[in-house]
Amino acid sequence: MRLNSHPAGRHFLQIPGPTNVPDRVLRAMDYPTIDHRGPEFNALAKKVLRSVRQVFQTKQPVIVYPASGTGAWEAALVNTLSPGDLVLMWETGHFASLWKKMADKLGIKSEFMGGDWRKPADPAAIEKRLKEDTGHTIKAVCIVHNETSTGVVSDISAVRRAIDAAKHPALLLVDTISSLGSIDYRHDAWGVDVTVAGSQKGLMLPPGLSFNALSEKAIEASKASKMVKAFWNWDEMLAANANGWFPYTPATNLLYGLNEACDMLLEEGLDAVFARHARHAEATRTAVNAWGLEILCSDPKAYSGSLTAIVMPEGHDADAFRKVVLENFNMSLGQGLTKVAGKVFRIGHLGDFNDLMLMGTLSGVEMALGLAKVPHKAGGAQAALTYLRDTAPGARNA
Ligand SMILES: *Cc1c(COP(=O)(O)O)cnc(C)c1O
Repeated sequence: MRLNSHPAGRHFLQIPGPTNVPDRVLRAMDYPTIDHRGPEFNALAKKVLRSVRQVFQTKQPVIVYPASGTGAWEAALVNTLSPGDLVLMWETGHFASLWKKMADKLGIKSEFMGGDWRKPADPAAIEKRLKEDTGHTIKAVCIVHNETSTGVVSDISAVRRAIDAAKHPALLLVDTISSLGSIDYRHDAWGVDVTVAGSQKGLMLPPGLSFNALSEKAIEASKASKMVKAFWNWDEMLAANANGWFPYTPATNLLYGLNEACDMLLEEGLDAVFARHARHAEATRTAVNAWGLEILCSDPKAYSGSLTAIVMPEGHDADAFRKVVLENFNMSLGQGLTKVAGKVFRIGHLGDFNDLMLMGTLSGVEMALGLAKVPHKAGGAQAALTYLRDTAPGARNA
């Protein structure tokens, strides 16, 4: 396919973020930018700051930055910590490694646990490490909820219980950039102090917004924090947001989109949204198993609802395969990152997505496996089709 030729039909954007932006969100953003110090904006901001809390399942403040998720990672660290503080991080994969690198650059000491890119964080090991820290030098535990490079989900509620069981005062900071709005996540009920999120994955928006959901304990910590910060400082944002304003120009049109996206998620119902993602993930794994290929995540309890990472058979390059998919079927799949580069490809099944979009995706993968001569058994797409049929709302035994 020539890049300057017009490919008919819609591109299949099946990377695990950015995701397909639904027409309703696109239409909502296609509206003149308004005065962010005027009454119309004030009404929008009050509404959107309320709705977004429901998506995080919190009654506490959620800060919205005009930034990618990486900015919200930085905000979480610089608002709660001081130079030289020690944080405990779990190496689930590429994104956990990037968050650690950021802590190092900021002058925060970090200790990396784990390192098996196929497994979730181990709450028992975290509890043991915190119990050893009798002097409470560890100031925060940082976990990536859904590790997007591997498709492995860590049990955040269990990590909270581990911190409590160790009677340790460390804050709990969680990255939900690829799980919020896709996989069950409860900021308040799970006792998370700072939740980091981004706009372009489960929230179905273009890139450009990111979030910090806070706890009272996190706000208290921010008052004692000595990290240098200006743009990321929570205090002016919290003061302005309390009355529906922002301390600087907000990303107005993205906020129109966020308002619409929150409405869509809440209309469908969060439980239904999570069940839809879990079902599509199960259908995808059904196809992968039928192809005889291997899922990177080695713990079935930790399978991701957002994406599935698939291991390429020995001697076959995942990126060459993705090229065949793109050139023949106009579909983008996620690449393997750093440690697993060339070894895995990832199917994103999150965001604005339904059964027939999933079947298009899996059909494209199966056809390309054939074209690229990757050893596999036929019938994965058919197996997924049967699963989706049998679990459809109208199925007798669903
Ligand atoms: C996408 C992603 C990031 C990076 O977010 P950007 O918006 O690219 O800055 C960080 N963590 C996780 C888990 C992600 O999925």
